Amino acid sequence: MSTRTIAGQALLPEVEAFLSKEIHGAVIGGQEVLASDGGTFETHDPGTGEKLATVANMQTDDVERAVAAAQKAFDEADWTRLPSNERGVHLMRLADTVEQHKLIITQIESLDCGKIAAQAEDDIQNFIDTVRYFCNLVQGLSLDTAIPVAGHEASVVRHAWGPCGFIVPWNFPFLLCGWGIGPAMAAGNTCVVKPAEDTPLSTLYVAHLAKEIGIPDGVINVIPGVGEVTGAALSKNPNLCRMSFTGSPEVGRMVARDCGHNLIPVKLELGGKGAAVIFDDVDIPEAADKLAQAITFHTGQVCCDATRWLVQKTIYDDFLNAAVERLKAVQIGHPLGQATQMGPVVSEVQHKRVLGYLEKGAAAGAETVLEGGAAQVEDCAGGHYVKPALLAGSLDNVAAREEIFGPVAYLASFSDESEGIRLANNTDYGLANSVWSSDLVRCKRVASQFEAGNGWINSHNVVVHGVPYAGVKKSGMGGGVVSLETLLDYYRNVSVIRPL
Ligand code: NAD
Repeated sequence: MSTRTIAGQALLPEVEAFLSKEIHGAVIGGQEVLASDGGTFETHDPGTGEKLATVANMQTDDVERAVAAAQKAFDEADWTRLPSNERGVHLMRLADTVEQHKLIITQIESLDCGKIAAQAEDDIQNFIDTVRYFCNLVQGLSLDTAIPVAGHEASVVRHAWGPCGFIVPWNFPFLLCGWGIGPAMAAGNTCVVKPAEDTPLSTLYVAHLAKEIGIPDGVINVIPGVGEVTGAALSKNPNLCRMSFTGSPEVGRMVARDCGHNLIPVKLELGGKGAAVIFDDVDIPEAADKLAQAITFHTGQVCCDATRWLVQKTIYDDFLNAAVERLKAVQIGHPLGQATQMGPVVSEVQHKRVLGYLEKGAAAGAETVLEGGAAQVEDCAGGHYVKPALLAGSLDNVAAREEIFGPVAYLASFSDESEGIRLANNTDYGLANSVWSSDLVRCKRVASQFEAGNGWINSHNVVVHGVPYAGVKKSGMGGGVVSLETLLDYYRNVSVIRPL
């Protein structure tokens, strides 16, 4: 098979072969299956707008079959009953296999979600690290823990729940798949994953890899499809034992309502409108550089990004000039291009959304500091490219309050520490803020007062395995990810007690 070249990069033969499949079916009970009504949808390369693949659009009865397959695997396959160390052998093999296929999955991810190749590779590595982290964590976990209480013999016994549902967005498809299935599988649960319709390919690829290395059929089921049908059917399914949703607050609310109706525990990881609080003792070029990198990281399509830059009055102009200079220099290009620093946004819908917020913000009185707008990339006429933009003014502006999900930051100034904290917390969201200062005592004090799940110091987008990552307010509920607490969420506890 001849291989194509995109943005100067030859597609790997394995990627070409994977993409050339006529229809990418779901993976249910270890079998690749098409939708019951034969329906399909297309995914596209956001860098060129060209079709990448045709994918099965799973219907409600297909979703029921996937949950039944996960239940069957839970009941019958040699998975849940395996001791943690033996299940760990499978999980380590999964991580190793993903590592061996890293370049292939990187290219698939980069093409499917428009993420520059280096960042896509980091996401694949993060999946590997997540699986290994939870695999190791579970080895030291007691599944029957005695509790010293007067007059009683008591213990807590932990069990896996059963089939768990995962609904995933398009911005970090593979990484978030790992954050979900990693802890769930380590604890002995089985999984039904609904990837976003824009980016289903890497998740389907890993389901095939899992089958190849002997993870029992039905432990990982992947059901691609559109949100309103496949996602809604999964969130309404009464036979799941847990649900994890990552995405927008609007859809999260619907999923929570459905799960609430069925009394199924649900974890929501939602959007954000993070702030960076920048004090006047920072190294201005360095802080401006790091924040410019943060807002252009995956073209600003990052839930925890710093989208409100709150700068102490005394350095406001200097910081603004440094940031403008840095953002103007960002190299926009196809995600596979060697020189590309920022790729496209994921879709035409997202392109319109970003440009729409620039217009709405300006119409509501925001000052346009750096214009942004649509960008053109040579030989990629159909791509969804935007330039970085900076707005400034009142924090009541729509562009300062709502999640844009593009490379757009909003600048405002503050006088002193208490005002900086108050402005950072004055939002409906509560995912992640950062504080920037050379005074580390002040940094710790400010970061601890954020009404957000995460407070970062002299850096932004810092997610580390072992440190809880979760949102509060409109940014999430029901637990977080990547820590011991996450693993414990995937156990059902029985308190066993005998009066003495
Ligand atoms: P989205 O809410 O539109 O979609 C997320 C998923 O839900 C997709 O798989 C989609 O198909 C599915 N879905 C859509 N309608 C549904 C319905 N009616 N019922 C059930 N499922 C449905 O979000 P998006 O646009 O894909 O992703 C961007 C959002 O995700 C942003 O708000 C971002 O901040 C958030 N996000 C949060 C985190 C976090 O960790 N907190 C991480 C990544 C993204």
